[in-house]
Amino acid sequence: MTRYFLFLTITLITFVSCGQKPEKTKTSYNFELSDTEWQEKLSTQQYKVLRKSGTERAFSGELWDNKKKGTYTCAGCDQLLFLSNTKFKSGTGWPSFYNFIDNGVEIGTDNNLGHSRNEAHCTNCGGHLGHVFKDGPKPTGLRYCINSASLNFKPE
Ligand SMILES: [Zn+2]
Repeated sequence: MTRYFLFLTITLITFVSCGQKPEKTKTSYNFELSDTEWQEKLSTQQYKVLRKSGTERAFSGELWDNKKKGTYTCAGCDQLLFLSNTKFKSGTGWPSFYNFIDNGVEIGTDNNLGHSRNEAHCTNCGGHLGHVFKDGPKPTGLRYCINSASLNFKPE
């Protein structure tokens, strides 16, 4: 019964997390641009995801099925975020990683409507990347569900 409730809770959090547009709590980042500058720098889709906490449609991004070796950087500021050897096949249609590069990503939790949400942001520009869930593989048990639009891939 407890396991079933836990499953339901995780499902609910997953559902809620991908549809909400939370406010960020941190307001100062090393890399900052005005809203107009961001719109000029980024594509429409990148802007929607990174700056407006949007979520691309599953299986619509360029990197969900990317199996090449290399590094993933922030599409907003070029900071290193993820390595290809922590990417795994999640079947969700979004690039999924079980870990990030040290100091590259911060998790901002806020409570809205009684649900805790775990949003992943770039630590350098504050750009919204995606969400973290607790159903990932070992060794972390975490799944960083990241939008392709927030990433640039640099092959090895
Ligand atoms: Zn960034």
